[in-house]
Amino acid sequence: MPTVTIDGCKVRVKKNATVLDAAKKAGIWIPTLCYHPAVSCDASCRICMVELERGDWRQLVTACNYPVREDIVVYVSSERAQQARRGVMELLLARAPESEELKALAERMGVKETHYPKVTESQRNCILCGLCVRVCEEIIGQSAIGFAGRGVDRTVAAPFRQPSDDCIGCGACAVVCPVGTIKLRIHKDQQEVEISPFKSRAKLLLCRQCGAPVVSVQVSEQVMGKVGLDCEEFRERVRLCPKCRKLQSAAQLASAPIRKKQ
Ligand code: SF4
Repeated sequence: MPTVTIDGCKVRVKKNATVLDAAKKAGIWIPTLCYHPAVSCDASCRICMVELERGDWRQLVTACNYPVREDIVVYVSSERAQQARRGVMELLLARAPESEELKALAERMGVKETHYPKVTESQRNCILCGLCVRVCEEIIGQSAIGFAGRGVDRTVAAPFRQPSDDCIGCGACAVVCPVGTIKLRIHKDQQEVEISPFKSRAKLLLCRQCGAPVVSVQVSEQVMGKVGLDCEEFRERVRLCPKCRKLQSAAQLASAPIRKKQ
């Protein structure tokens, strides 16, 4: 097992673990945005840059995908590494100036404002990390969104920038969005969930007791198909929100006949 010396702290990690894994093991914080352990890593945001010692010079590398194949020395807190990360943060702040999540991370990194011009209104608040695209493709298996346009016009969108029929309204893209740009909007009157900003919509399953939204119809059908429990009793339970399900279970328990001891 190779040894990583990270800010003077030595940790041993499995071969091909990443510098980020080593830092976590050493209890050293490195900021990340486009990284998520559940999907492939493409180091697109560059916020996790650290310095790697190479003989008598040092190179900036991204911690989330740099593989540890031999003993290495890494600097997370060096002036150059911190400056590089702060520079990236300023660029990201120019893309997502209203993101509370990004502002909180910037503050933790000592960045108060950006000196770069803010991007145009249409691209605001997306840092193009691609986490939503990877989750939709690799975990959900839908590929309902992808990158569109080039250069400063690059955005994440549904095909032809139109609402996508492939979107099942699962909300996974919103859950992983590190800057809180993707949101679920519930249109209860139309019994639909809208994935903003992609404008895709999916039919909602509403609780048969209280009418609260439970999950999208397609997600519930996919889940039932996967767990192989497509029976009427399970369908009835799925059509209850967590609160009503709990109440029903409690009522069933309370009315269950008590077996007398023989
Ligand atoms: S809500 Fe739609 S776009 Fe988002 S991950 Fe699910 S299927 Fe993909």
